[in-house]
Amino acid sequence: MTDDFFADFGETLHQAAKEFTAKTDSFFESQKMRNKISGEQRQIDQCLRDVGNIIYEKFVEGEPLHEEIAALCEEVTEHKMSIAKMRESMARKRGEKVCAACGAALPKDARFCLQCGAECEEETEEEVVEDPKPASEEKDDPFKEDKGSEETGEDIEE
Ligand SMILES: [Zn+2]
Repeated sequence: MTDDFFADFGETLHQAAKEFTAKTDSFFESQKMRNKISGEQRQIDQCLRDVGNIIYEKFVEGEPLHEEIAALCEEVTEHKMSIAKMRESMARKRGEKVCAACGAALPKDARFCLQCGAECEEETEEEVVEDPKPASEEKDDPFKEDKGSEETGEDIEE
């Protein structure tokens, strides 16, 4: 009776182990499949991205495209412009400027882009440097000449 019990118990354990192995095998098998599927999906995504980039280049070159595609391309251009604006404001804060052609950050005095070689526009906005001298230093100087009151009267008139 006891022997039977242990024999049965042993058989049950053995069966459970077998089922467990089968379950883990199928778990790893399906995990492997899932990885393969996401690998394939990544390939598809990359191909679609490439297709998109090729079509966008055609849009930029002025090739007439299907209405829906052209609208999406315009959207891409808008996003690119907003990225460019943000990059430019970040560069300004760092005392740099951004290449109008490729968006690379450049030193403020750069005349050509270090990245793409495009000629850079001259910075029109000059930074206003405030006089670091405190105003109090200017007054109460008894030896300072008062040039404002000096009238030479040497103006030559025709
Ligand atoms: Zn550039």
